Amino acid sequence: MAEYNRVSECVGLITLRNPPVNALSAAVRQGIVDTVERALSDPNVKSVVICGQNGIFCGGADIKEFGSKMTGPPLIPMIHAIESANKPVVAAIEGSALGGGLELALGCHYRIAHSKARLGLPEVSLGLLPAAGGSQRLPRLIGVPAALNLITTGRHVTAAEALQLGIVDQVTDHNTVDAAVKFALSVAGRSLDPRRISTHPCPQQPDLDALFEEVMQKVRQSARGAIAPIACVQAVRAAATLPYAQGMERERELMATLFTSGQARALQYCFFAERAVGRWRMPSGARWDTSKPRPVHKAAVIGLGTMGRGITVALAQTGLSVIAVETQEKQLMEAKQAISGMLERGAKRRGVAPALDRVIYSQNIQAVADVDLVIEAVFEDIALKTKVFQQLSAVCKPGTLLCTNTSALDVDQLASETPNPELVVGMHFFAPAHVMKLLEVVYGPRSSPQAVATAMQLGKKMGKASVAVGNCRGFVGNRMLKPYIEEAFFLLEEGATPELVDQALEEFGFSMGVFRMSDLSGLDVGWRVRKGDGLVEPGTASGRSARIRQGRRYSPLGDLLCEEGRFGQKTGRGWYQYDKPGSRVARSDPWLHSFLGAYRAQHGLVARRIDHQEVLERCLYALINEGFHILDDGIAAGPEDIDVIYVSGYGWPRHRGGPMFYANMVGLAKVLERLEHYQQLHPEVPHLQPSSLLRRLVASGSPPIHKWGEVIKKLHSQL
Ligand code: NAD
Repeated sequence: MAEYNRVSECVGLITLRNPPVNALSAAVRQGIVDTVERALSDPNVKSVVICGQNGIFCGGADIKEFGSKMTGPPLIPMIHAIESANKPVVAAIEGSALGGGLELALGCHYRIAHSKARLGLPEVSLGLLPAAGGSQRLPRLIGVPAALNLITTGRHVTAAEALQLGIVDQVTDHNTVDAAVKFALSVAGRSLDPRRISTHPCPQQPDLDALFEEVMQKVRQSARGAIAPIACVQAVRAAATLPYAQGMERERELMATLFTSGQARALQYCFFAERAVGRWRMPSGARWDTSKPRPVHKAAVIGLGTMGRGITVALAQTGLSVIAVETQEKQLMEAKQAISGMLERGAKRRGVAPALDRVIYSQNIQAVADVDLVIEAVFEDIALKTKVFQQLSAVCKPGTLLCTNTSALDVDQLASETPNPELVVGMHFFAPAHVMKLLEVVYGPRSSPQAVATAMQLGKKMGKASVAVGNCRGFVGNRMLKPYIEEAFFLLEEGATPELVDQALEEFGFSMGVFRMSDLSGLDVGWRVRKGDGLVEPGTASGRSARIRQGRRYSPLGDLLCEEGRFGQKTGRGWYQYDKPGSRVARSDPWLHSFLGAYRAQHGLVARRIDHQEVLERCLYALINEGFHILDDGIAAGPEDIDVIYVSGYGWPRHRGGPMFYANMVGLAKVLERLEHYQQLHPEVPHLQPSSLLRRLVASGSPPIHKWGEVIKKLHSQL
């Protein structure tokens, strides 16, 4: 787990060996302790180099060990022993030095990095802080402001930035271990006192209190209820104001609080859930490990509106050649300009050349004849999409995968209109498609495993959290959103305001409440869908019957706003008012409040006081309940799939783990009891009727989330 060699006669070389990232498992820690002792006690050894095998220094703690009892030597004394060694210890950083890996390197006296290496303390993203001295050493090394930035965001830095910040002493383009050995020889015998970071105070910082106050305020705002970033600030404050030993004690206390918090569990669950969704499986039995993806070198995008532009950028940035097709000349010109701008800005951010020449524009669908995969993003109109798919089937070379970016149309229906339905899948991106992390890959009963594997692999290459889901109205994300939005409308009818509902949801941790989000994406989008479903009846008929449509409770509030031309931010008016169309700052609108008052009076509704708890229970439990239906229907393979979709695409607070994990934390019996309670009060609302899977889970003693699969399987095998 840590191999020892003597090189250049007097350098002890310690190589960490724990694929894939040389994580600091108990065995690796033991290996380091033993080999360091050996190097220090060998009189022929003048200096020591620590490196990792396979071009990676160390990816940090072994997260799999978090849940179990600690064994092996602890990290803190191990790093301390390295720092207090009487021979220089040099870290040779290739690949990455992250978390505990960087903390280990900070305990070394010198750090040499390869120019392609990345360094960081990402513990905050797992609900923790760098608690092996990282929060105490880094500020001493690079100063409080820079350390605060790195530790509270968890961002990784390049070797060049690490050199500039003073984290590393040297960057090399050549063999890092050779450079480190050479360096170690050159510093042998020098005094090590100035190199022991823990023995120094933090660099002087004027007006420390004001700095911490400002940072704390910013962090609180962006953390949206997450506690780890705040603990990170407190730990760095301890480094800046206390002697090292007391700072370490504070680091330990803060870590103990975080470690046992539900938030750390939620964040670690997300970490594993994101990996689990890559191991997709379909009800047919097809799986990720038995389905081989086809290579995709050249792709096409049809329709260059909002979505098509972002998808083109995402594909080109992944290194694919893209044929971008748009029938409207004006749209094509605008799209070309917009796509080039996005590619240029993206390239500038990443310090690479823009991939402008990877995109070829055309008004003619014939141009896609030789592509490997097509993503259609024309208007949401089944007749138009069917026509496009038929054209594509005629034009494309045999075997080309045909994907649709539809938000809600039936992927099976589209597939059945083509001669090769096995080549059709949904690739449901989210706006803006080159930024948003989520991709739902929608398979139908006839989609081939190879088609799903190809779309999933392409999503992964694009850096998306790709989740394979079955075909149904709204797929997973939008299907669950429907009852959530409906409950929010019902709450307005009963006496809430958009401000109250949004505040409750934003305090819960959502980046935006339901009404602010609806103003952002446009109220007309849902209006068009409801019209298509035959739910919209123009005008304001009064009484209860006007609010029952297709046999269930319906709120026409959104339709009435659209009839007033209030489409949200784009028109400067929606659930809120804005300074001008397109402005983003939502302000409370007195017109809306009197409109709600008049609406309630007209429908004989008496406003009552609604508290945050009711908002959360009605909106979130309705959404979660739909999640259970989705699991029951086999549309999502497991709760992790739903949770990844909500965390990466719908602004669900990551520190709450996703809706299904949240239900598990709250307690399934409680969720069931509250749904039953609200269902009794609102019997005309079917989505409050608890799902049979939820009932089954509660009847089976509310097993923990990783055991839900057994209950689902049992249920399916009995059907
Ligand atoms: P949009 O109206 O912005 O763009 C559609 C584009 O398709 C237009 O430029 C139009 O000229 C072009 N077009 C129409 N017929 C065409 C044809 N035969 N060949 C080539 N181009 C053609 O629409 P959008 O918002 O980008 O949505 C596109 C699809 O993506 C829809 O199915 C929508 O439901 C889905 N979607 C949208 C969002 C979103 O937030 N906007 C999110 C996810 C999915």
